[in-house]
Amino acid sequence: MKKDIASILRKLHQMHGEPRVELSYTNALELVIATVLSAQCTDERVNAVTKGLFKKYRTAEDYVKAPGAELEEDIRPTGFYRNKAKAIKSIAAELLQKFDGAVPDDIDTFATVKGIGRKSANMIVGLAYKKPGIIVDTHVARVSGRIGLTANRGPEKIETDLRSAVPMESWMPFSLLMILHGRYICTAKKPDCPRCLLREGCDYYSMGGT
Ligand code: SF4
Repeated sequence: MKKDIASILRKLHQMHGEPRVELSYTNALELVIATVLSAQCTDERVNAVTKGLFKKYRTAEDYVKAPGAELEEDIRPTGFYRNKAKAIKSIAAELLQKFDGAVPDDIDTFATVKGIGRKSANMIVGLAYKKPGIIVDTHVARVSGRIGLTANRGPEKIETDLRSAVPMESWMPFSLLMILHGRYICTAKKPDCPRCLLREGCDYYSMGGT
């Protein structure tokens, strides 16, 4: 059944307010670093760490030049700090080598950077450069499937489905609101359908969900 995207967006707004990200950043590079650090870590903890980190490291070159052990210590509270430090140094090196240290403002180009991928490229370019992007993280994938906006499971196919279902000017707000919805209401463990305004028109609910 065709979904009423305008109504879905309106109700998402009603439930979650203004679309927002909970990571702190002031430019594209900071958002790249915060995104890497946010894997398996709360945004709150990432923000506590990046407060000092972004004062110490301001350019891609700063991350490349930093001794690995020092960077590891600086990001240790976010967990998996060895792998994260390696990933940050590798991304920074590629940005420096191929893009003069800048974060490309094109999703397809940025997604080619090793360790970035389409999810992060859509999010970072979308937010930092205010360009339309569909972010397919675990929440967006799950909630879109439950509502019935996609029957696919792979993130790239889901991205394609959502790009055609949602008007381009709403790609970013839609993505950000769906992330909040997946985090706070339509959770992986147990969707809180009684509290959800999307019940009408939701495939999961109409098939006897909670
Ligand atoms: S009705 Fe339930 S399954 Fe459907 S979007 Fe809302 S919380 Fe998720």
